[in-house]
Amino acid sequence: MINIPKGTKDILPKDSYKWQIIRNVANNIADKYNLKEISTPVFESTELFVRSDGDSSDIVNKEMYTFLDKGNRSITLKPEGTAGVVRSYIENGLGNEILPVKLFYITPCYRYEKPQAGRLREHHQFGVEIFGANSLASDIEAILIAYDFYKSFNIEPTVLINFLGCDECKQNYKKILREFVLPNLDNMCEDCHKRYETNPLRLLDCKSTTCQNFLAKAPLISECLCEKCKSKFNDITRMLTSIGIKYQIDPKLVRGLDYYTDLVFEFWDFDENLGKNALGGGGRYDKLVGSIGGKDTPVIGFGIGIERLLTYLENKNIHLKEKEPVDVYVASNTENENYVIKFVKSLRDKGFRVDSDLMSRSIKSQFKYADKINAKFVIVIGDDEINENKISIKNMRSSEQIKIWSNDVVEYLKQNV
Ligand SMILES: [Zn+2]
Ligand SMILES: [Zn+2]
Repeated sequence: MINIPKGTKDILPKDSYKWQIIRNVANNIADKYNLKEISTPVFESTELFVRSDGDSSDIVNKEMYTFLDKGNRSITLKPEGTAGVVRSYIENGLGNEILPVKLFYITPCYRYEKPQAGRLREHHQFGVEIFGANSLASDIEAILIAYDFYKSFNIEPTVLINFLGCDECKQNYKKILREFVLPNLDNMCEDCHKRYETNPLRLLDCKSTTCQNFLAKAPLISECLCEKCKSKFNDITRMLTSIGIKYQIDPKLVRGLDYYTDLVFEFWDFDENLGKNALGGGGRYDKLVGSIGGKDTPVIGFGIGIERLLTYLENKNIHLKEKEPVDVYVASNTENENYVIKFVKSLRDKGFRVDSDLMSRSIKSQFKYADKINAKFVIVIGDDEINENKISIKNMRSSEQIKIWSNDVVEYLKQNV
């Protein structure tokens, strides 16, 4: 017996309605905000992720599924959604026409992680990228799109935000942070030594308590911002307040990838019983398009993990609406297959949702099946019925059963389904 690879999950028929709902919600939100869908391949050149996600990020260092293909090219299964979309945006000249370009996608992502609660090696993301705008309106719109998506599931998360600043602010802060850390670097963890060299901002999200205790006194990014960045951040928080979005400033929020500048945000739910749950996040990355060969273009975007959202909804006891069962199950007890097949087809042609016996089973077994799939009505066709030009129809909710003219079935169903 061959088992599913570690850290992956099947979406079984009993759960697929949830995924359909998520796709529908994503599509509706996209329509509401005029986002267009984009799909990019599951794999890309490894170099794309090394250059865009940064060679100091955990993703690139530890978590990528990378292999040589038969043509000796280094290929990587996409670990996140943004890089491929940015590659496509540049390659297809999507920005040559009119800006902004507002895109969304639902994509599988692959990370070689320790499979633990909520961490899969294959997971799916709903992502949005807005190319071409760097404005208060675009920052707020990105947050609102995500917020609207959550609200469709009756969740109102808290938005954690931070502002990493412009390139200059970021460089300046890196220097300040390095200077602060240096005297104590020897006492910090191994990862932090690497971060110190490659991306000191990530020192701030070290999980080690020793490092955290020491970093608690580190100067904050917000204290080191230039006047322009300070005022941008103020505008954002003021706007969020005025449109009633719950937010908290988290001065240590830097996000895992190197490419963020200016605004970064994450969506969290703080529940008394369930504890803290991260539900998604994103930010601005105005240098990314330029750094992988495109014309400098500001971008803001976010990603929401779908499996994580589904687990969270389950834990919160928020139920998604299951699909309606079929209108009619057609049970038959006759050699005249021709008649039955045509009858079933005629009901489907009229738009009814119909299932019928494909196993040549006894009437009793057919009724059992109809019960199991929760059919609203069962129509029985036997030789008597065919000869009389009638059918028997049973309302499975009320158990009432009657015989009617075959010609009247459509009308009867229209009135009673
Ligand atoms: Zn600045
Ligand atoms: Zn550390």
